[in-house]
Amino acid sequence: CNDSQSSLSVNCLDRHVHTAPNKVALIWEKDEPGKEVRVTYRELLELTCRLGNTLKRQGVKRGDRVTIYMPPCPLAVASMLACARIGAVHTVVFAGFSSEALADRIRDGKRLLQTDRGGKVIELKQTVDQAVRACPLVKRVLVSMRTEQKVPMSELHEMMKEDVCCEPAVMESEDLLFLLYTSGSTGKPKGLVHSQAGYLLYTAITHKYVFDYHDGDIFGCVADIGWITGHSYVVYGPLCNGGTTVLFESTPVYPNPVERLRINQFYGAPTAIRLLLRYGDEWVKRYDRSSLKTLGSVGEPINTEAWEWYFNVVGDARCPVVDTWWQTETGGICISPRPSSPGDEILPGMAMRPFFGISPALLDDKGNILTQNNVSGALCISQAWPGMARTIYNDHKRFLETYLMPYPGFFFTGDGAYRTSQGYYQLTGRLDDVINVSGHRLGTAELEDIVHRAVAESAVIGFPHEIKGEGAYVFIVLKKGTDVSQERLSNELKELVSKKIHGGSPFPTRLPKTRSGKIMRRVLKKIVEDKADELGDLTTLDDHEAVEEIIEGHKRLL
Ligand code: ATP
Ligand code: MG
Repeated sequence: CNDSQSSLSVNCLDRHVHTAPNKVALIWEKDEPGKEVRVTYRELLELTCRLGNTLKRQGVKRGDRVTIYMPPCPLAVASMLACARIGAVHTVVFAGFSSEALADRIRDGKRLLQTDRGGKVIELKQTVDQAVRACPLVKRVLVSMRTEQKVPMSELHEMMKEDVCCEPAVMESEDLLFLLYTSGSTGKPKGLVHSQAGYLLYTAITHKYVFDYHDGDIFGCVADIGWITGHSYVVYGPLCNGGTTVLFESTPVYPNPVERLRINQFYGAPTAIRLLLRYGDEWVKRYDRSSLKTLGSVGEPINTEAWEWYFNVVGDARCPVVDTWWQTETGGICISPRPSSPGDEILPGMAMRPFFGISPALLDDKGNILTQNNVSGALCISQAWPGMARTIYNDHKRFLETYLMPYPGFFFTGDGAYRTSQGYYQLTGRLDDVINVSGHRLGTAELEDIVHRAVAESAVIGFPHEIKGEGAYVFIVLKKGTDVSQERLSNELKELVSKKIHGGSPFPTRLPKTRSGKIMRRVLKKIVEDKADELGDLTTLDDHEAVEEIIEGHKRLL
């Protein structure tokens, strides 16, 4: 290879097989607790090569797109690495998606689809059959058998009897590695393109320095591999560093894998942390958590109460909590505390500091750079970094319009942030969701943080208000066993947030979220504006009943 060429699968596999072939690369924590499977680097390389040869035999060539529709499992990871090995471009689609959502993503990806019968109850193969009927360009479907149950086979069932050697394709650093969709929190998901060398470098160094990962540690990131967090911190970052990474088939809500697997770094979403918090401390304290060294949070702002519970109860006040801000677009963590730098202060609920090479800027509405501290503005990044997405697949115009044109000369993130008087960064929510009450611009994260102290979970949105232009409207999910009247809680909250909240809905049991666990405020906004028939793209909505419950509750209010 010359300087601009690399082989990503060699960096993630062969390199480590030379030095430590029997080191465990993956621990697959299956849906059946206590039946974890360990896969060494040598085994993962062999599986990857077999799959690479299988793909080649099916006619997959360099640059072809392969859709992977599988739950987190070693074969799914090997499929990603096999694509990288032969120079194909992968698109992993979250295995809970419907056939329409899958078909949408295949139409971008074309060519070949690989699936798994997976999980206890989800009939992935049926969904695939339906999706493929709508995608005439798909050439092959490869199926892996995860269960003993009978599966309707309308397509090929490929067995891997291939050679365990597969020559790695040498790639240019800017060749496509994968395309991946955003969570769809603010609208139709965007299929972002990541390239080879910069992406791998960025995930590897952020994994090492943000989580303070050391050789021999066991890294547990609970994200599904269908999201960017799964790509960067379940697969590529840890494997490039020769680490041992845990693959969770589903979110762990059964007895604690931290104790059984001796996990050293645990990385999850605030929504899961808030769910655990609702069950109380005992449930966590029953298990040995002495292996833990770093706790991470990602995906949404983490409210102060959840942060403190995570730090004090889960981490026994001895593990740094890293609130990591980043996006599908950024490839890896951009703003986060760095416990690998000893003595650095970490404040609750703050992403704190930019990572090496990231140069954040806050801009006002008119596009002026805010240079002072103690200001809020649109969070932008002022120079390119290795992990950034290169384009939106088949839609470079949308890429330019969304990220590069709003503030010329800057990458626009779509999020708002506050820079404290000490120069630390705190995310205030998405700019689309900012609420303007009598000229005061309020981020949803700031308001939700206050509300959270009284309740389990909340979502604040803006709604038209005759006098103030916009009012804040809050949806609240109560903590387990709380018995309080709507009126009393409403009055208490109004006191707490200095009367900034004007409206409230009957307490729903849950909030509408994306499959990756993010609150879909845009859906709530439409309901409050009486536009429940214009909810927009709902392909990534996790639970349609949550929306119906809120629509019903809102009707009762009227
Ligand atoms: P879409 O772009 O399709 O609307 P999405 O923005 O939710 O969906 P992702 O790329 O998965 O898709 O999520 C990135 C977004 O998640 C960020 O832009 C930010 O709004 C939010 N986010 C991620 N991490 C944090 C964090 N630590 N603190 C606050 N917000 C965060
Ligand atoms: Mg986004």
